Amino acid sequence: MIRRLIWLFISLFLCFLIIQVVRFHIELSNREMPDQLHPTVEEKKDQLIDQARDSGIDIVITDGFRSIDEQDQLYQQGRSTEGSVVTYAQGGESYHNYGLAIDFALKSQDGEIIWDMQYDGNNSGEPDWLEVVDIAKSLEFTWGGDWDRFPDYPHLQLDDGLSIQQLQRGYRPGDDLLNFIFFIDDGH
Ligand SMILES: [Zn+2]
Repeated sequence: MIRRLIWLFISLFLCFLIIQVVRFHIELSNREMPDQLHPTVEEKKDQLIDQARDSGIDIVITDGFRSIDEQDQLYQQGRSTEGSVVTYAQGGESYHNYGLAIDFALKSQDGEIIWDMQYDGNNSGEPDWLEVVDIAKSLEFTWGGDWDRFPDYPHLQLDDGLSIQQLQRGYRPGDDLLNFIFFIDDGH
């Protein structure tokens, strides 16, 4: 009798697990594309600007969220349209499309945008660009300048360990199958 009850319980639990995993994948496949920066990225972007200013460095965010259409247009630059190639990512292949990346540049006192990575406007003896990168890393951003293939020096992203393939499949930062199965709301 006890044994039967145990088997019944295990079977019901397995059914519950299977249903939850299927629900998780249905939810992923129904995910819409974001249309703005992820709230955490938005928050850390502001912290980056503030903390850079505290070090005597003014920065501008030159790019943040990008729609699929905007990404496709950017991809054409230097290919079918004029200009030089600025991205290797087509629509849906960039962290910007998921609101998880920003690009920055320095700004001089007279408001001029500076791309010079050696510029030391606050006279700290260290290039301002790298000081900003250090602050960004302390805020958990990954820096595109560390990439071996196609380094992207203005680029900062907060990907929560997700690959572009996972994002394309519907995963978003904070997704956790176990939390989903057991209805745990971890605040994401
Ligand atoms: Zn970027």
